[in-house]
Amino acid sequence: HLPRLHVEPDLVAGAPLTLGKEQSLYLAAVLRKSVGDEVVLFNGRDGAWLCRITADSKKSVGLDVVDRIAAQTPPSDLWYGFAPLKSERLDYMVQKAVEMGVGTIQPVVTQFTQNHRVKTERLQANAIEAAEQCEVLVVPSIAAEVSLGQLLDGWPTQHGDRKLLFADEGAASSSPVVALEQLRGQRVGLLVGPEGGFSDKERTKLHGLPFVVPISLGPRILRADTAAVAGLAAIQAIIGD
Ligand code: SAM
Repeated sequence: HLPRLHVEPDLVAGAPLTLGKEQSLYLAAVLRKSVGDEVVLFNGRDGAWLCRITADSKKSVGLDVVDRIAAQTPPSDLWYGFAPLKSERLDYMVQKAVEMGVGTIQPVVTQFTQNHRVKTERLQANAIEAAEQCEVLVVPSIAAEVSLGQLLDGWPTQHGDRKLLFADEGAASSSPVVALEQLRGQRVGLLVGPEGGFSDKERTKLHGLPFVVPISLGPRILRADTAAVAGLAAIQAIIGD
C-alpha cells in the first residue's frame, strides 16, 4: 500500500509537483519517505497517479508525476444530512460518511442540536483524510449549515425528485428494507437527528411532506453516529449509489 494524498494542482504525466508544508512533513518526517519512493496523488479530477519523490526536505517534498493508475470516478450522488454532534463524534460521522460513499455532507440544525458551531474547514479536512484512506477519488463536498426548516422548504427546488429518507426510530416498520426496495434507482438522501432526536413538531412536519420517507433502522435506539452508518449501509446495499 502506497501513501495516498489529495492535492489541488492538475496531475499531468511528466509534470513536476511540489507538496505544501504539512504534506511534506507528513511524507518526509512521519512516513520517512525519501527520494525514489512512490506515492499516489489524486485531485478529484484527473484520477489517481503514481508519483516518485525527487526531493525529500521536510518543508517541501518534490515529486514527478509518473503514471495514471486509476481513471477518475464520477462524484457520488448520495446526500447525507445530520444534526451536528460534539466534535469527536462529528469527526467520526464525517469519516464514516466518506467511507460509505456519500457525495454531499450537509450539517442541519434542528431544535435539539447541541453543537451550533460547526467548523466547515475541520469537516473538510476530515473528509479529505478519509478519502485518502479509503481510496475514494472524489472528496465529498461539505455544504454550508442550514436549519431544518430551510432544508425542508428548499428541498423540492434544490433536490428535484430526490427522496429524503428520514431516520425515524418511531417509523411504522422496524426494517428499512421494504421502504428502500421501493426506491431502487431513485435519487435519495439520508437525514439523521441529534443526540436528543427530532422534536415532536419536527417529526410531524417531516411525516407530512411528500418527498420524505421515514425509515426505521431496527427496534433499538441507535446513537446518531451509529444510525448514520447503519442507514448509509442499508441504502448502499439496497438502492446502490
Ligand atoms: N441519545 C443517543 C445519542 O446520543 O446519539 C441516541 C440519539 S437518536 C435519538 C439520534 C438519531 O438517530 C435519531 O434522531 C434518528 O434520526 C436516528 N435513530 C436512532 N435510532 C434509530 C432507529 N432505530 N431507527 C431509525 N433512526 C434511528
